Amino acid sequence: MASYDVIIIGAGPGGYVSAIRCAQLGLKTAVVEGRETLGGTCLNVGCIPSKALLNATHHLHEAEHNFAKMGLKGKSPSVDWNQMKAYKDDVVGQNTGGIEFLFKKNKIDWIKGWASVPAAGKVKVGDEVHEAKNIVVATGSVPSSLPGITVDNDAGVVVDSTGALELPKVPKKMTVIGAGVIGLELGSVYARLGTEVTVVEYMDAITPGMDADVQRTFKKLLEKQGLQFIMGAAVQGVEANKTKAKVSYKLKKDESEHVLDADVVLVATGRKAFTDGLGLAEAGVEFTERGQVKTDAHWATNVSGIYAIGDAIVGPMLAHKAEDEGMAVAEVLAGKHGHVNYDVIPGVIYTSPEVATVGKTEAALKAEGRKIKVGKFSFMGNARAKAVFQGDGFVKLIADADTDRLLGAAIIGPSAGDMIHEICVAMEYGGSAQDVAMTCHAHPTYSEAVREAALALGDGAIHA
Ligand SMILES: Cc1cc2nc3c(=O)[nH]c(=O)nc-3n(C[C@H](O)[C@H](O)[C@H](O)COP(=O)(O)OP(=O)(O)OC[C@H]3O[C@@H](n4cnc5c(N)ncnc54)[C@H](O)[C@@H]3O)c2cc1C
Repeated sequence: MASYDVIIIGAGPGGYVSAIRCAQLGLKTAVVEGRETLGGTCLNVGCIPSKALLNATHHLHEAEHNFAKMGLKGKSPSVDWNQMKAYKDDVVGQNTGGIEFLFKKNKIDWIKGWASVPAAGKVKVGDEVHEAKNIVVATGSVPSSLPGITVDNDAGVVVDSTGALELPKVPKKMTVIGAGVIGLELGSVYARLGTEVTVVEYMDAITPGMDADVQRTFKKLLEKQGLQFIMGAAVQGVEANKTKAKVSYKLKKDESEHVLDADVVLVATGRKAFTDGLGLAEAGVEFTERGQVKTDAHWATNVSGIYAIGDAIVGPMLAHKAEDEGMAVAEVLAGKHGHVNYDVIPGVIYTSPEVATVGKTEAALKAEGRKIKVGKFSFMGNARAKAVFQGDGFVKLIADADTDRLLGAAIIGPSAGDMIHEICVAMEYGGSAQDVAMTCHAHPTYSEAVREAALALGDGAIHA
């Protein structure tokens, strides 16, 4: 048994980042992780492996669709799926190994195994009970399914995102249930590999909650890439045998019933907080109705000495949100002032083109009755985007009509996930559209489109 200032349960982006910051602030820190490797969902079966597959298949798409236009002739590369998965695993291994290195560097103990919390101040792993002044629950989330659907990743026919990263072969036909971020990213991967991908979504628009202009453009661009969509469809159930599955659904508009055949069904209907086996309820910790650990503005639960962060609590299930909370709770535990600005948390979809948003949508601001102005600039007016055949998207900025203060942004276009940060920084500083418009942007860059959208909010964009 050992005694610590802090024991963090879970080594995902919330937990491992929190541990590093705790150690940097002089706290004796340990992390309990039950998985074989550090990094949590994000590094092992989430952000990182999905981005590796998106990267590989993006290059395939470029070779098949754009190389010849640029005078690069010859046969397109053939796909060695096992090698592609090996590349993905290598990327994962480098990243999870990197966290192990950082733990050693910062003198953080990794207690291997599954933890429970018999009481505040105590963390049980196997037969050992460790003591800690404070405990941070960073146990993340797991995929959630729908009633009537049994996911079996080993069988590889009805899978969740984890199974979809490991399919034994590239399927001919895939049905994706859910047009959210994970379904569209992994659907894109397989569509680029030649799979006939059909996405079935309950809502009438893809990526629910996102800017409506982006939703429309994004869907059109994905359709151009071969993805098919069935919108307003309530999935009733999935029947599977060893090699195939049938998805039955009902269209909301006329209650008509339909069945889709597929070799693989990807259930991408969201994720839920994971706190199984921790015994938190028995220790007196309160939960929300959706099973998330309840916390206050400083990530403290109702039980003194127990904190929680990341996907296990309320808020967007994003790695960087978990990381920010991880750093902030460490500051709180070290007696400093931890803070997360939940109004400025970007969201990115790593398809091609990328989609990135921050702040409030036009619809949400209008519903609040706020006086706003909207500046839009098409990538058709951006020289660099045209050179890479990505003129289809746009930058949309929303500012307060009276003060010009930036309130939100949506970008669909090349490197949108990187470009959004210029707006995040501006919003963090309470900046205006004019601040962005007056900032010199290098030419030729995609970022010039952000400046043009800001100029559109003033006297007008130049290249529109
Ligand atoms: C396919 C996919 C793609 C994604 N892509 C992105 C993306 O591009 N960008 C983005 O921001 N987010 C992405 N996400 C979401 C992101 O992975 C999560 O938001 C993030 O991992 C949450 O971090 P966390 O630290 O809260 O929890 P997790 O990463 O889930 O880590 C929790 C860890 O706790 C461990 N644990 C749980 N219970 C115990 C216990 N009792 N004892 C010991 N250990 C325990 C688990 O084994 C796990 O390793 C993606 C998710 C998926 C599934």
